[in-house]
Amino acid sequence: MGGTFDPVHFGHLRSALEVCRALDLAQIRLVPCALPPHRIEPQASVSERRLMLELAIKYVPQFDIDDREMHRDGPSYSVDTLISLRQDYPDNPLFLILGSDAFNGLKSWSRWQQLLELAHIVVMQRPGDDMQLSAEMQQWLTQHSGTDADKNQPAGSVWPVTVTPLSISSTVVREELAEGRPPRFLIPDAVISLIEQLGLYRRE
Ligand code: ATP
Ligand code: MG
Repeated sequence: MGGTFDPVHFGHLRSALEVCRALDLAQIRLVPCALPPHRIEPQASVSERRLMLELAIKYVPQFDIDDREMHRDGPSYSVDTLISLRQDYPDNPLFLILGSDAFNGLKSWSRWQQLLELAHIVVMQRPGDDMQLSAEMQQWLTQHSGTDADKNQPAGSVWPVTVTPLSISSTVVREELAEGRPPRFLIPDAVISLIEQLGLYRRE
């Protein structure tokens, strides 16, 4: 599961855990994006965002952080991340986990046709989006929709997974912090403490 995680919040964490359970995955890897190709630069540095993730998942054995986008120059394309993961795990099933908002924009991603050759794709239903997929993406999803047998294949199918709706976004969390209000119960307490300690997301 890639993301800017600027900062990580319970919407990311709870959804990832539910996907892990629903598909019986061995591990969830959170991949902080160094340089997002599709948006303005994150406010916190990649090492600060990584540190926040580390605190957030400290006690969750199924979760791990994957650093590889931090160590690559240029825009962080998911396809390059999957190519690199595939080299490390030639035969394992890999799942690229996306919110439905991200899935809707998939066709604008670099070398997007290659993604399904490298991994399965999980689409999490994100609150507010109502899984309002474009007709084109809905058709693509149906066409590649996976069955239990496909799950043991290394790649190639698409999996819609419904997760508990948590209408939290990093944007809302940053807005609260800019107003000087700690975003309690939207992100882990340990992450709030770190943000305060580092003075992140304050209004200039
Ligand atoms: P921002 O508001 O800065 O865009 P964000 O909350 O959308 O941040 P990202 O780091 O951009 O967080 O998202 C990473 C991934 O997590 C994306 O695939 C996104 O769709 C998904 N995601 C984010 N928030 C939620 C949520 N509340 N529920 C389910 N999935 C989420
Ligand atoms: Mg987003």
